[in-house]
Amino acid sequence: MAPLNIAIIGSGLSGLSLALALHQQNIPCTIYESRPASLNIGGAVMLSPNALKILDALGIYERVRDKGYNFETLEYKNGSGELLEVYEFGSKEKYGYEALRIYRTVLIDELLAMLKEKDISIVFGKKFTKVVAETENDVTWEFQDGSTQTADILVGADGIHSTVRCYLYPDLVPAFTGMAGVTAAVPTKQLKIPTGYHIPVTIMTPNGGFVIAPQEVDGSEVLIGKQKRMGEGFDRAGWDRYMADKDAFVEFLQEGASNFPEMVQNAVSHIPHNKINVWPFYAVPKLEKWASEKRRVIILGDAAHAIPPSAGQGINQAFEDVYMFALLLGQADKVEMQDTLSFWQDYRQKRITKVMWLNRQTDLRRMPKEAQTSGEIIEEIELSWLYLPNFKDDVESWVNGKLEKRD
Ligand SMILES: Cc1cc2nc3c(=O)[nH]c(=O)nc-3n(C[C@H](O)[C@H](O)[C@H](O)COP(=O)(O)OP(=O)(O)OC[C@H]3O[C@@H](n4cnc5c(N)ncnc54)[C@H](O)[C@@H]3O)c2cc1C
Repeated sequence: MAPLNIAIIGSGLSGLSLALALHQQNIPCTIYESRPASLNIGGAVMLSPNALKILDALGIYERVRDKGYNFETLEYKNGSGELLEVYEFGSKEKYGYEALRIYRTVLIDELLAMLKEKDISIVFGKKFTKVVAETENDVTWEFQDGSTQTADILVGADGIHSTVRCYLYPDLVPAFTGMAGVTAAVPTKQLKIPTGYHIPVTIMTPNGGFVIAPQEVDGSEVLIGKQKRMGEGFDRAGWDRYMADKDAFVEFLQEGASNFPEMVQNAVSHIPHNKINVWPFYAVPKLEKWASEKRRVIILGDAAHAIPPSAGQGINQAFEDVYMFALLLGQADKVEMQDTLSFWQDYRQKRITKVMWLNRQTDLRRMPKEAQTSGEIIEEIELSWLYLPNFKDDVESWVNGKLEKRD
């Protein structure tokens, strides 16, 4: 079989890492990005051992480990400083990796550098608009400038508001949940954190939670933030106008600070406008298919599943999609494409469903009153299923099982 030729729409973290993972499998690909450069939506992301193992296998981890803040646990405390719970985000001893909190732009720059070193092509300023034709063998699509292109497989890594997804689900529009995460970055020393007080921490009070998470290699900066219920009538089109009012976000972060310990009051005392970041939470329903009927159009990352922020797994799960997909395509000459894609989606969806459970459990801990009123049970959280996956072995044993059945 001739090597597959893959087109990737979107140069976010999913698209860039997919290109590297495919390259490792000797599968040629090209990335097409609508913007003039990779999108930097600002802020840092938290990477947990399941994703770090993948980045390690792709040769990225060693290049970024010392460019972010390494840590193991996130503590939940009440306003008096009493420890409520410890949540493991990583552990060198138990899961092979500490967690890494790293600026998105640092990760993107490093991925772009690796693409360049490996001669993987990326075309900026090319906005995908629609699929024109799909056959049993290939797919042709159009860009906004009217040009068309054909490839064996088209992958939509174009984010939560994916246009590629419209080919599979023409009527699907992500629903705004009404909530947004409002964060800012300030110097750690501004907080005057008492000696011995552990960060990252989420401080819980009856008035809500406040997050403090160190970033930069030496922890010299902290992310501070809380969740905001947005007003009625908020829509995506009005987002830029809304975002321009930085004072309103500063006020929101300062609101109710007197209900929190002094370090929170210090944290919000001075907030630079250019360090404010807002993440509106959109929901995409569970999708029955991540591939078209003829299996030439595929979606992954945020385009396939929007994961709420509670357990910090959004981007970590996207890396899992990408890596599994590339490993399986590397075996495409041995197994039918239909079987490969069914196995991939089924495997990935099972993990995402468990992540959704983890999110809910995290929310119930943050909002104990909600657990009481909803009748849900706060269950014990054990994380080895999440942090100790073995993607390579799982792919290999699935492929071998298929081959044995055929013989
Ligand atoms: C403010 C904010 C903070 C966040 N913080 C965290 C966090 O701390 N931890 C975490 O795990 N997750 C976080 N997330 C979620 C996380 O960013 C997403 O899960 C992740 O970015 C998904 O990656 P992706 O590559 O699938 O999509 P995206 O990052 O959305 O990338 C999609 C890319 O496709 C391009 N594109 C879109 N349409 C087209 C088109 N028609 N043609 C060509 N190109 C196109 C876009 O320009 C973009 O470059 C955050 C999200 C936001 C908005």
